[in-house]
Amino acid sequence: MFSSVLIANRGEIACRVIRTARRLGLRTIAVYSDADRDSLFVAQADEAHRIGPAPAGESYLIGDRIVAVAKEAGADCIHPGYGFLSENAEFAEACAKAGIAFVGPPPKAIRAMGLKDAAKAVVERAGVPVVPGYHGAKQDPAFLRERAANIGFPVLIKAVAGGGGKGMRRVDRLIDFEDALLSAQREAANAFGDPRVLVEKYIRSPRHIEMQVFADRFGNAVHLFERDCSLQRRHQKVMEEAPAPGMTDAVRDAMGKAAVDAALAVGYVGAGTVEFIADASHGLRPDGFFFMEMNTRLQVEHPVTEAITGLDLVEWQFRVAAGEKLPLAQQELAVHGHAVEARLYAEDPERGFLPSTGRLWALRFPEAEGVRVDTGVAEGDVVTPYYDPMIAKVIAHAPSRLAALDLLAQALEETVVAGPRTNVGFLKALCDAHGFRAGEFDTGFIDRNMDALGAAPRGPDLAAAAAGALALVRERQEGVREAARAAGGSGQGPWDVADAFQLSGPRRTGLPIVVEGERIEAALGWDAAGPMLDVPGAELTGQADFTLVTTDDGIIALASGRQTHVRLHDPLGVALDEGDSGGVVKSPMHGKVVAIFVVEGEAVEKGQRVAIVEAMKMEHALVAPRAGVVAEVLAEAGQQVAEGARLAVIGENG
Ligand code: ADP
Ligand code: ADP
Ligand code: MG
Repeated sequence: MFSSVLIANRGEIACRVIRTARRLGLRTIAVYSDADRDSLFVAQADEAHRIGPAPAGESYLIGDRIVAVAKEAGADCIHPGYGFLSENAEFAEACAKAGIAFVGPPPKAIRAMGLKDAAKAVVERAGVPVVPGYHGAKQDPAFLRERAANIGFPVLIKAVAGGGGKGMRRVDRLIDFEDALLSAQREAANAFGDPRVLVEKYIRSPRHIEMQVFADRFGNAVHLFERDCSLQRRHQKVMEEAPAPGMTDAVRDAMGKAAVDAALAVGYVGAGTVEFIADASHGLRPDGFFFMEMNTRLQVEHPVTEAITGLDLVEWQFRVAAGEKLPLAQQELAVHGHAVEARLYAEDPERGFLPSTGRLWALRFPEAEGVRVDTGVAEGDVVTPYYDPMIAKVIAHAPSRLAALDLLAQALEETVVAGPRTNVGFLKALCDAHGFRAGEFDTGFIDRNMDALGAAPRGPDLAAAAAGALALVRERQEGVREAARAAGGSGQGPWDVADAFQLSGPRRTGLPIVVEGERIEAALGWDAAGPMLDVPGAELTGQADFTLVTTDDGIIALASGRQTHVRLHDPLGVALDEGDSGGVVKSPMHGKVVAIFVVEGEAVEKGQRVAIVEAMKMEHALVAPRAGVVAEVLAEAGQQVAEGARLAVIGENG
């Protein structure tokens, strides 16, 4: 076994790898960017080395620098985690050249599976069923259009170099094909530097079911059962579980064999995942699934497999990379119970899942039997715009599927996150969603149920705002009393409840508050019980239960995972952009301006696309808030902008 490891990654997966490495007695070496200097994984590692500025392209993606640090620090091996350099064959080669073991498959296997078209060709030769389609070299639009017509609509256009659901377009009609092709190629060229695509049959009622595989250097290969990752949004996984609902022994055997065959076909060593798309319109069938791609790394959702097998996959990775044989044979592996994982993201389901950044004013997870939380952040940390916005993975393991879903729902209910917006309420709603619980779902489930899952714009929670504002009033009252006491007074003052009540009886005074950035005229009153707050529109919910979290400028009141920010209006602190509604197009988050579509003097329609801003791997189109003429353009493509930055101003018509 190795005696030290450098982890070429960050966040929760770096913490995850450190945990096992430490248990196995390895010295742990972290590398970090400027944005991660004070991160959990840096604190947890035995030593840590700075590798560059915040953008991944200047730090976590610079393989040579990381290998140099590994050499200097005397690392025996490098664990790449997932994302970043984990599927980069040149990086694996650079490790080998430096005499450092790469905890992952041989470069040859990474390359063989690196492009979706080539991978499909390789596994097809090994007898693995692939999605019918065209995965050849020709990229001529007329040719691809003809192939699409032959395949039959709907079809899916995919970037051959794709990942993370990028460069993918579903096309339902022949006349839409060319537009979709061009935009998929453009997105692929931007994201992967490779515009090539393949065209395949879009599987109806698709279920994403993947097989965890493991192989060693002695030609042994096993599968560690399947994971169902059909709960997706924009082709990206949201919740994953193992085993797959409706799985039979016959289907599992067929899928397991196909996965192991695919791995052996490329001389695979280590942990990998073979992703299949299953046609679930008539239940799972041994001949109803097709190879999509192989991910040659540890997968984000590996904890559900660990839960049902009782194994530590990172330990297996280290053992295999160190030249040991696979610890167990296929017949020694078994499934125990059911596990479900939810990806907790800093994003706002009520605003189109816009990534959300900022300080984590509160972050608390429940501790319960069967619940595992993998995270890379702690209370007080800042979620930055530079990396994937995942805050944590919450995993529940129980004897049955419904028990696991109940346990996960309970854990999410007890999870407290305040600051960045999160999808915690959305995840909880998913656990409780009838169709999902019944096992009747496919990859379109989330899209079909957006509103029911609470992913729709809603007004502010005014009852929460009232509770928060009242707490702020009490806090201020305490502050005034303390100040008076410190000044040698009695501690009684104009804010003192009893005093105010005695002097003038019940009375009311206007108290403007700011809820979610909007000013609201509330009224403050006193009675014998203390201050009461009347917020117009707030339903009287009695002793409603809110979790209150103090921030630097106010309070966040939480109910069912929903956050309501409230502060007392400060008459001296008028925000510069107040009253700035009308024609200003602002960036909704920190990010990079990808494109500006208007020029000064141009007439625009309300809703017309004005700019695209990209943050955390997602593009957001910004539209004109009203019809008019572009008065000012304040940003240009390629520029980094802060949240709230003004990008353009649309003047009024006429
Ligand atoms: P998995 O398939 O292992 O569950 P994902 O496909 O969601 O995980 O992504 C795995 C990792 O790869 C994540 O860390 C994610 O941030 C990263 N990743 C996914 N897509 C991209 C992309 N287009 N560019 C860079 N990193 C990506
Ligand atoms: P990525 O590299 O982005 O992970 P995949 O090829 O794994 O790309 O596909 C991502 C998702 O897109 C799948 O999980 C599935 O939901 C959907 N998908 C892919 N291929 C098909 C298909 N042929 N039919 C229906 N859905 C598909
Ligand atoms: Mg995939």
